[in-house]
Amino acid sequence: MKKLHVFNYWDRQQAGLIKEILANEGIQCALRNDQLSSAVGEIPFIECCPELWVIDDEAFPRAQMFLKAWLENDISMLDSWVCPVCGEFCEGQFGACWSCGVLRE
Ligand SMILES: [Zn+2]
Repeated sequence: MKKLHVFNYWDRQQAGLIKEILANEGIQCALRNDQLSSAVGEIPFIECCPELWVIDDEAFPRAQMFLKAWLENDISMLDSWVCPVCGEFCEGQFGACWSCGVLRE
């Protein structure tokens, strides 16, 4: 298991999203510190930053590639789209349908 990325404290949602995206690519990841501790305020912020770990070492380079591509995209510039398979509305940052997993055309 290798650590892929440490997200900012406020990027918790993004961390979960990337985990989902990688899972769609067949890369299993684990999030650490993804729950806000009830003790928050008593421990330093750094301790509650979400960490994304790739479970399978062999998938690590691929995961890095996806993360890099994802982070380099200006997600606010991407248009929302409608899945051609299941008709679900997907936000622009998704490269695949969140519902059925079909890749964006
Ligand atoms: Zn779909």
